[in-house]
Amino acid sequence: MKRFFLVLVILLLGTVMIYAATFAVIGKSVHPYWSQVEQGVKAAGKALGVKTQFFVPAKEDINAQLQMLESFIAQGVDGIAIAPSDPTAVIPAIKKALELGIPIITLDTDTPDSGRYVYIGTDNYTAGYIAGETMKKLLNGKGKVVIGTGSLTAMNSLQRMQGFKDAIKDTEIEILDTLNDEEDGARALSMAESALNAHPDLDGFFGVYAYNGPSQALAVKNAGKVGKVKIVCFDTTPDILQYVKEGVIQATMGQKPYMMGYLSVAVLFNMSKLGVTNTLMMLPKDRIIDTGVDVVTPENLDDYLKYMEELGIPVKF
Ligand code: BGC
Repeated sequence: MKRFFLVLVILLLGTVMIYAATFAVIGKSVHPYWSQVEQGVKAAGKALGVKTQFFVPAKEDINAQLQMLESFIAQGVDGIAIAPSDPTAVIPAIKKALELGIPIITLDTDTPDSGRYVYIGTDNYTAGYIAGETMKKLLNGKGKVVIGTGSLTAMNSLQRMQGFKDAIKDTEIEILDTLNDEEDGARALSMAESALNAHPDLDGFFGVYAYNGPSQALAVKNAGKVGKVKIVCFDTTPDILQYVKEGVIQATMGQKPYMMGYLSVAVLFNMSKLGVTNTLMMLPKDRIIDTGVDVVTPENLDDYLKYMEELGIPVKF
Protein backbone atom coordinates (compact mmCIF):
# COMPACT_ATOMS: atom_id res chain seq x y z
CA MET A 1 0.00 0.00 0.00
CA LYS A 2 2.79 2.36 1.04
CA ARG A 3 4.57 1.60 -2.19
CA PHE A 4 1.42 2.33 -4.16
CA PHE A 5 1.17 5.79 -2.55
CA LEU A 6 4.82 6.46 -3.22
CA VAL A 7 4.35 5.62 -6.89
CA LEU A 8 1.24 7.82 -6.97
CA VAL A 9 3.09 10.76 -5.40
CA ILE A 10 5.96 10.37 -7.87
CA LEU A 11 3.51 10.24 -10.76
CA LEU A 12 1.65 13.31 -9.53
CA LEU A 13 4.88 15.21 -9.02
CA GLY A 14 5.93 14.21 -12.51
CA THR A 15 2.65 15.51 -13.92
CA VAL A 16 3.01 18.79 -12.04
CA MET A 17 6.57 19.14 -13.31
CA ILE A 18 5.54 18.34 -16.87
CA TYR A 19 2.78 20.96 -16.78
CA ALA A 20 4.73 23.62 -14.87
CA ALA A 21 5.05 25.70 -18.00
CA THR A 22 7.59 28.52 -18.15
CA PHE A 23 7.03 31.75 -20.02
CA ALA A 24 9.81 34.25 -20.64
CA VAL A 25 9.54 38.00 -21.15
CA ILE A 26 12.39 40.11 -22.56
CA GLY A 27 12.18 43.88 -22.07
CA LYS A 28 14.41 46.74 -23.22
CA SER A 29 16.21 48.34 -20.28
CA VAL A 30 16.49 48.61 -16.50
CA HIS A 31 13.87 51.22 -15.60
CA PRO A 32 10.81 51.59 -13.31
CA TYR A 33 8.66 51.33 -16.47
CA TRP A 34 9.99 47.80 -16.99
CA SER A 35 9.59 47.03 -13.27
CA GLN A 36 5.88 47.67 -13.77
CA VAL A 37 5.88 45.26 -16.73
CA GLU A 38 7.67 42.70 -14.52
CA GLN A 39 5.05 43.11 -11.78
CA GLY A 40 2.34 42.30 -14.31
CA VAL A 41 4.32 39.28 -15.54
CA LYS A 42 4.74 37.94 -11.99
CA ALA A 43 1.11 38.57 -11.04
CA ALA A 44 -0.14 36.67 -14.09
CA GLY A 45 2.31 33.82 -13.45
CA LYS A 46 1.05 33.55 -9.87
CA ALA A 47 -2.61 33.69 -10.87
CA LEU A 48 -2.15 31.01 -13.55
CA GLY A 49 0.23 28.82 -11.55
CA VAL A 50 3.04 28.97 -14.11
CA LYS A 51 6.69 29.95 -13.94
CA THR A 52 7.86 33.21 -15.45
CA GLN A 53 11.29 34.56 -16.26
CA PHE A 54 11.93 38.23 -16.89
CA PHE A 55 15.02 39.80 -18.43
CA VAL A 56 16.06 43.36 -19.30
CA PRO A 57 19.50 44.56 -20.42
CA ALA A 58 21.01 47.50 -18.46
CA LYS A 59 20.24 49.83 -21.36
CA GLU A 60 19.22 49.50 -24.98
CA ASP A 61 21.19 46.50 -26.22
CA ILE A 62 19.88 44.37 -29.07
CA ASN A 63 22.78 41.90 -28.75
CA ALA A 64 22.00 41.23 -25.08
CA GLN A 65 18.34 40.72 -26.05
CA LEU A 66 19.31 38.29 -28.84
CA GLN A 67 21.61 36.31 -26.52
CA MET A 68 18.82 35.95 -23.98
CA LEU A 69 16.32 35.01 -26.67
CA GLU A 70 18.67 32.24 -27.90
CA SER A 71 19.13 31.07 -24.32
CA PHE A 72 15.36 30.87 -23.68
CA ILE A 73 14.95 28.98 -26.96
CA ALA A 74 17.71 26.53 -25.93
CA GLN A 75 16.03 26.04 -22.53
CA GLY A 76 12.86 25.08 -24.39
CA VAL A 77 10.55 27.51 -22.57
CA ASP A 78 6.86 27.30 -23.45
CA GLY A 79 6.48 30.79 -24.89
CA ILE A 80 8.37 34.07 -25.21
CA ALA A 81 7.29 37.71 -25.29
CA ILE A 82 9.90 40.22 -26.47
CA ALA A 83 10.15 43.99 -26.94
CA PRO A 84 12.81 44.12 -29.66
CA SER A 85 15.10 47.14 -29.69
CA ASP A 86 15.66 46.41 -33.36
CA PRO A 87 12.73 44.92 -35.30
CA THR A 88 14.92 43.53 -38.11
CA ALA A 89 17.83 42.03 -36.17
CA VAL A 90 15.47 39.87 -34.15
CA ILE A 91 13.75 38.19 -37.12
CA PRO A 92 16.03 35.10 -37.61
CA ALA A 93 15.81 34.11 -33.92
CA ILE A 94 12.03 34.56 -33.89
CA LYS A 95 11.65 32.42 -36.99
CA LYS A 96 13.84 29.75 -35.40
CA ALA A 97 11.73 29.70 -32.22
CA LEU A 98 8.51 29.44 -34.22
CA GLU A 99 9.93 26.56 -36.26
CA LEU A 100 10.75 24.79 -33.00
CA GLY A 101 7.15 25.28 -31.90
CA ILE A 102 7.83 27.96 -29.27
CA PRO A 103 5.15 30.67 -29.54
CA ILE A 104 6.57 34.18 -29.78
CA ILE A 105 4.68 37.41 -29.24
CA THR A 106 5.82 41.02 -28.87
CA LEU A 107 5.04 43.62 -26.23
CA ASP A 108 5.72 47.36 -25.98
CA THR A 109 7.35 47.53 -29.42
CA ASP A 110 6.76 45.34 -32.44
CA THR A 111 8.41 43.49 -35.30
CA PRO A 112 5.47 42.77 -37.60
CA ASP A 113 7.51 41.08 -40.36
CA SER A 114 8.96 38.42 -38.06
CA GLY A 115 5.97 36.10 -37.97
CA ARG A 116 5.34 36.79 -34.25
CA TYR A 117 1.80 35.82 -33.38
CA VAL A 118 0.53 38.93 -31.59
CA TYR A 119 1.64 42.43 -30.53
CA ILE A 120 0.48 43.66 -27.12
CA GLY A 121 0.98 47.34 -26.31
CA THR A 122 0.37 50.94 -27.20
CA ASP A 123 -0.65 52.08 -30.68
CA ASN A 124 2.54 54.10 -30.82
CA TYR A 125 1.82 56.10 -33.96
CA THR A 126 -1.52 57.30 -32.59
CA ALA A 127 -0.05 58.04 -29.15
CA GLY A 128 2.73 60.07 -30.81
CA TYR A 129 0.11 61.90 -32.86
CA ILE A 130 -1.83 62.77 -29.69
CA ALA A 131 1.43 64.02 -28.15
CA GLY A 132 1.97 66.23 -31.21
CA GLU A 133 -1.55 67.62 -31.05
CA THR A 134 -1.05 68.34 -27.36
CA MET A 135 2.18 70.21 -28.11
CA LYS A 136 0.44 72.12 -30.89
CA LYS A 137 -2.17 73.36 -28.42
CA LEU A 138 0.39 74.21 -25.75
CA LEU A 139 2.49 76.25 -28.20
CA ASN A 140 -0.47 77.76 -30.06
CA GLY A 141 0.89 76.25 -33.26
CA LYS A 142 4.24 78.06 -33.23
CA GLY A 143 7.66 77.42 -31.70
CA LYS A 144 10.89 75.45 -31.50
CA VAL A 145 11.00 71.91 -30.20
CA VAL A 146 13.71 69.34 -29.44
CA ILE A 147 12.97 65.60 -29.30
CA GLY A 148 14.72 63.27 -26.85
CA THR A 149 14.54 59.51 -27.45
CA GLY A 150 16.34 56.29 -26.56
CA SER A 151 16.30 54.54 -29.90
CA LEU A 152 16.51 55.21 -33.61
CA THR A 153 15.71 51.59 -34.44
CA ALA A 154 12.93 50.41 -32.10
CA MET A 155 9.55 50.70 -33.80
CA ASN A 156 7.81 52.33 -30.84
CA SER A 157 10.28 55.23 -30.86
CA LEU A 158 10.09 55.70 -34.64
CA GLN A 159 6.28 55.50 -34.68
CA ARG A 160 5.89 57.98 -31.82
CA MET A 161 8.17 60.48 -33.55
CA GLN A 162 6.39 59.99 -36.89
CA GLY A 163 2.99 60.51 -35.26
CA PHE A 164 4.26 63.62 -33.48
CA LYS A 165 5.71 65.08 -36.70
CA ASP A 166 2.52 64.37 -38.66
CA ALA A 167 0.40 66.11 -36.03
CA ILE A 168 2.44 69.33 -36.23
CA LYS A 169 2.90 69.18 -40.03
CA ASP A 170 0.78 72.18 -40.94
CA THR A 171 1.90 74.40 -38.08
CA GLU A 172 4.80 76.75 -37.48
CA ILE A 173 6.36 74.34 -35.02
CA GLU A 174 9.90 73.48 -35.96
CA ILE A 175 11.87 70.45 -34.73
CA LEU A 176 15.42 71.62 -34.13
CA ASP A 177 17.01 68.34 -33.17
CA THR A 178 16.38 64.66 -32.35
CA LEU A 179 18.69 63.44 -29.59
CA ASN A 180 19.36 59.70 -29.11
CA ASP A 181 20.66 58.68 -25.66
CA GLU A 182 20.32 54.88 -26.24
CA GLU A 183 18.16 54.51 -23.12
CA ASP A 184 20.85 55.98 -20.89
CA GLY A 185 19.21 58.27 -18.33
CA ALA A 186 22.41 60.17 -17.48
CA ARG A 187 23.03 60.91 -21.15
CA ALA A 188 19.41 61.97 -21.59
CA LEU A 189 19.86 64.58 -18.86
CA SER A 190 23.11 65.99 -20.22
CA MET A 191 21.63 66.09 -23.71
CA ALA A 192 18.58 68.00 -22.47
CA GLU A 193 20.87 70.45 -20.67
CA SER A 194 22.99 70.96 -23.79
CA ALA A 195 19.83 71.53 -25.85
CA LEU A 196 18.70 74.27 -23.47
CA ASN A 197 22.14 75.91 -23.67
CA ALA A 198 22.34 75.64 -27.44
CA HIS A 199 18.82 76.99 -27.97
CA PRO A 200 18.00 79.73 -25.45
CA ASP A 201 14.74 80.35 -27.35
CA LEU A 202 13.55 76.72 -27.06
CA ASP A 203 9.76 76.40 -26.53
CA GLY A 204 9.25 72.70 -26.02
CA PHE A 205 10.65 69.23 -25.42
CA PHE A 206 9.06 66.01 -26.63
CA GLY A 207 10.19 63.07 -24.47
CA VAL A 208 9.74 59.78 -26.32
CA TYR A 209 10.78 57.26 -23.63
CA ALA A 210 9.98 57.04 -19.93
CA TYR A 211 13.15 58.69 -18.62
CA ASN A 212 13.22 61.45 -21.29
CA GLY A 213 10.43 63.51 -19.72
CA PRO A 214 11.96 63.55 -16.21
CA SER A 215 15.44 64.33 -17.63
CA GLN A 216 14.03 67.24 -19.60
CA ALA A 217 12.00 68.33 -16.56
CA LEU A 218 15.08 68.40 -14.32
CA ALA A 219 17.04 70.36 -16.92
CA VAL A 220 14.18 72.85 -17.38
CA LYS A 221 13.77 73.24 -13.62
CA ASN A 222 17.51 73.80 -13.09
CA ALA A 223 17.54 76.38 -15.88
CA GLY A 224 14.64 78.26 -14.21
CA LYS A 225 12.46 77.77 -17.31
CA VAL A 226 9.45 75.97 -15.83
CA GLY A 227 6.38 76.74 -17.94
CA LYS A 228 8.46 78.61 -20.49
CA VAL A 229 9.74 75.39 -22.05
CA LYS A 230 6.75 73.05 -22.33
CA ILE A 231 7.23 69.30 -21.93
CA VAL A 232 5.08 66.61 -23.50
CA CYS A 233 6.28 63.09 -22.81
CA PHE A 234 5.42 59.41 -22.35
CA ASP A 235 4.58 57.27 -19.32
CA THR A 236 3.41 57.64 -15.76
CA THR A 237 6.23 56.42 -13.53
CA PRO A 238 6.26 58.20 -10.11
CA ASP A 239 9.00 60.70 -11.12
CA ILE A 240 6.94 61.81 -14.12
CA LEU A 241 3.74 62.22 -12.12
CA GLN A 242 5.61 64.29 -9.53
CA TYR A 243 6.73 66.66 -12.31
CA VAL A 244 3.17 66.75 -13.69
CA LYS A 245 1.92 67.68 -10.21
CA GLU A 246 4.52 70.48 -10.01
CA GLY A 247 3.50 71.71 -13.47
CA VAL A 248 6.98 71.13 -14.94
CA ILE A 249 5.59 68.51 -17.33
CA GLN A 250 2.42 69.74 -19.07
CA ALA A 251 1.20 66.39 -20.42
CA THR A 252 2.25 62.75 -20.52
CA MET A 253 0.96 59.79 -22.56
CA GLY A 254 0.26 57.14 -19.93
CA GLN A 255 0.96 53.65 -21.23
CA LYS A 256 -0.12 50.43 -19.48
CA PRO A 257 3.11 48.55 -18.70
CA TYR A 258 1.58 46.35 -15.97
CA MET A 259 -1.18 45.29 -18.32
CA MET A 260 1.34 44.57 -21.12
CA GLY A 261 3.23 42.19 -18.83
CA TYR A 262 0.10 40.53 -17.47
CA LEU A 263 -1.51 40.06 -20.86
CA SER A 264 1.71 38.69 -22.39
CA VAL A 265 1.77 35.81 -19.90
CA ALA A 266 -2.00 35.28 -20.22
CA VAL A 267 -1.83 35.06 -24.02
CA LEU A 268 1.21 32.72 -23.99
CA PHE A 269 -0.54 30.58 -21.36
CA ASN A 270 -3.58 30.29 -23.61
CA MET A 271 -1.37 29.39 -26.56
CA SER A 272 0.28 26.59 -24.62
CA LYS A 273 -2.98 25.26 -23.12
CA LEU A 274 -5.45 25.77 -25.97
CA GLY A 275 -3.09 25.91 -28.90
CA VAL A 276 -1.98 28.83 -31.04
CA THR A 277 -4.86 28.60 -33.52
CA ASN A 278 -7.55 28.55 -30.83
CA THR A 279 -5.93 31.50 -29.09
CA LEU A 280 -5.65 33.57 -32.26
CA MET A 281 -9.31 32.82 -32.96
CA MET A 282 -10.18 34.79 -29.80
CA LEU A 283 -8.00 37.77 -30.73
CA PRO A 284 -8.54 40.67 -33.16
CA LYS A 285 -7.91 39.94 -36.84
CA ASP A 286 -4.96 42.34 -37.02
CA ARG A 287 -3.28 40.44 -34.16
CA ILE A 288 -2.80 43.61 -32.18
CA ILE A 289 -3.96 44.05 -28.59
CA ASP A 290 -3.99 47.81 -28.09
CA THR A 291 -3.58 48.51 -24.38
CA GLY A 292 -4.48 52.22 -24.83
CA VAL A 293 -3.09 55.51 -23.50
CA ASP A 294 -4.31 57.97 -20.87
CA VAL A 295 -3.26 61.57 -21.44
CA VAL A 296 -2.33 62.81 -17.97
CA THR A 297 -2.15 66.56 -17.23
CA PRO A 298 -1.95 68.60 -14.02
CA GLU A 299 -5.74 69.10 -14.37
CA ASN A 300 -6.73 65.41 -14.48
CA LEU A 301 -3.89 63.95 -12.36
CA ASP A 302 -6.15 63.20 -9.36
CA ASP A 303 -8.67 61.35 -11.54
CA TYR A 304 -5.87 59.32 -13.07
CA LEU A 305 -4.48 58.39 -9.65
CA LYS A 306 -7.95 57.32 -8.52
CA TYR A 307 -8.37 55.21 -11.66
CA MET A 308 -5.04 53.42 -11.08
CA GLU A 309 -6.00 52.75 -7.49
CA GLU A 310 -9.31 51.27 -8.61
CA LEU A 311 -7.38 48.97 -10.97
CA GLY A 312 -5.38 47.72 -7.97
CA ILE A 313 -2.08 49.13 -9.27
CA PRO A 314 -1.76 52.45 -7.40
CA VAL A 315 1.12 54.80 -8.29
CA LYS A 316 2.82 56.12 -5.15
CA PHE A 317 5.08 59.18 -5.16
C1 BGC B 1 8.97 52.66 -23.86
C2 BGC B 1 9.94 51.54 -23.67
C3 BGC B 1 11.23 52.03 -23.05
C4 BGC B 1 10.89 52.74 -21.76
C5 BGC B 1 12.09 53.17 -20.93
C6 BGC B 1 8.83 53.52 -22.63
O1 BGC B 1 8.16 54.69 -22.99
O2 BGC B 1 7.70 52.19 -24.25
O3 BGC B 1 10.19 50.92 -24.90
O4 BGC B 1 12.15 50.99 -22.84
O5 BGC B 1 10.09 53.86 -22.07
O6 BGC B 1 13.01 53.76 -21.66
